[in-house]
Amino acid sequence: MRDPVSFLKEEYEALVGQDLDWKLRVLAGPSAPWCHVDGKRVLMFCSNNYLGLSNHPRLKEAAIEAVKSHGAGSGSVRPIAGNMDLHVELEERLARFKAAEASLVYQTGFAANSGLIPQLAGKDDLIISDELNHGSIIDGVRLSHADRGVYKHADPDDLGRVLGEAEKASPPPRRILVITDGVFSMDGDIAPLDRIASLAAEHGAMVYVDDAHGEGVLGEGGRGIVSHFRVPRERVQVEMGTFSKAFGVVGGHVSGSRELTRFAYNKSRTWLLSGSHPPAVVAACIAAIDVLESEPEHVKRLWDNTSRFKKAMKDLGFDIGRSETPITPVMVGDSAVAKRLSLRIFELGVFALPIVYPMVAQGKARIRTIMNAALSDEDVDFAVAAFEKAGKEQGLV
Ligand SMILES: *Cc1c(COP(=O)(O)O)cnc(C)c1O
Repeated sequence: MRDPVSFLKEEYEALVGQDLDWKLRVLAGPSAPWCHVDGKRVLMFCSNNYLGLSNHPRLKEAAIEAVKSHGAGSGSVRPIAGNMDLHVELEERLARFKAAEASLVYQTGFAANSGLIPQLAGKDDLIISDELNHGSIIDGVRLSHADRGVYKHADPDDLGRVLGEAEKASPPPRRILVITDGVFSMDGDIAPLDRIASLAAEHGAMVYVDDAHGEGVLGEGGRGIVSHFRVPRERVQVEMGTFSKAFGVVGGHVSGSRELTRFAYNKSRTWLLSGSHPPAVVAACIAAIDVLESEPEHVKRLWDNTSRFKKAMKDLGFDIGRSETPITPVMVGDSAVAKRLSLRIFELGVFALPIVYPMVAQGKARIRTIMNAALSDEDVDFAVAAFEKAGKEQGLV
C-alpha cells in the first residue's frame, strides 16, 4: 500500500539536504535589546520591533487593562458579534495618525494583502508589481483573476513602459493596480513612491503601497512612506501596513478613503471570515499610536543608531548595500560564508540571521541587521566590534 503521507518526511528531508530548512530559535522573555536566545544572552539585531514598543510599559499596561475590561477574546468575527468599541477606536486613531479619511484593521498584514488585492483587481484588469514585492502581495495577486505585469525593482521608467504597453493593448485593461512595497525588507531601500504615484495618475491606475517596514520609521513622527514623500493622499489609494513591526504588536491595516474601507470590509474574505483581534491586542495597538504621537524620541533614536552603525561598518570596509533605512544588509556574497558569519557573531553575542538563496539571488547572501531604538551607543558599538572580529576572521574586511 502506498503511504499517503510519505511526502511529509521526504520533502522535509530534501530541504534539510539543501540546508534550506528553518531551524527555529527560542526567545526566552521579551524582545528587548538584550535577549535570551537558545539560552544565550545576546544583543537583538534582527527583530522588526524597531522602536522597542513590544516591551514598552504603556503598551503592556493597556493590554492588561483591556483584558480586565473586555475579556480575553472578542467572541466572533467583526461583521457578526466581534466588533468591539476598541476596534472602532483603533481605526479612528489610526486614520487620524495617517491623515487619511478612514482606516480598516485586519488580523494581520498578510490577511490584508491576501484578502484585499484580489478584490481590487479581477478578470479584465491588470496588476503591476515591483519584481521584489513581499510574498503576501504575491499570494494576493495569485488569488486574483487579473492579468499580471512586473516592472524592474524600484524602476519608474520600467513601470512607465508596462503602463504604456497596457494602454496600447486591445482592449485595454478595465482597471490597473500598481503595487509596491514601501521599504524593501531584504535591502532596506525605499520605493520611489512619488514617481510611481505620478505615473499611475497619468495612466489612471490605482496605487497600493505596502508600508510594513516604513511605518514607525519613515515620515513625520514615523507616519510612513506617504508622509516621507509628501505624496498627495488621493494619489495613493491604498496605504497598507502592519502593527507587527515598529508598532510592536500584531495586525494589518489599510488606510485611504471611506469608500475604500467600506468596500474592503464588505469584500475581503480574510476580514469577513476570521475572528477579530482580542481586546489586549487592540488596546496595545492604540497605545502604540499614543506613544508614537507623544514620544518622538524613539524614531529619532532609531535613526541616530542607524547612522552610527552604518558609518562604523562602512569605515571598517563592509559592503552594506543600497540601504536607506534601519535595515542594513551586511553583504557577504557566498551563502556558506554568510552562515558562518552569523554563527560567529552569535557566539560573540549578536543575534542577526543570514539571508541566502532562494530568499535573495545566488551570490547575494548577506546578514540582515535591523536597528532598534532601544539600543544604547555602547550596544551599537558592541555589535560593530563583533562584526569587525568575525569579518576579519572570514577575510571580509
Ligand atoms: C511583514 C510584512 C507583511 C506581513 O505583515 P504581518 O502583519 O506580519 O502579517 C506584509 N508585507 C510586508 C512588506 C512585510 O514586510
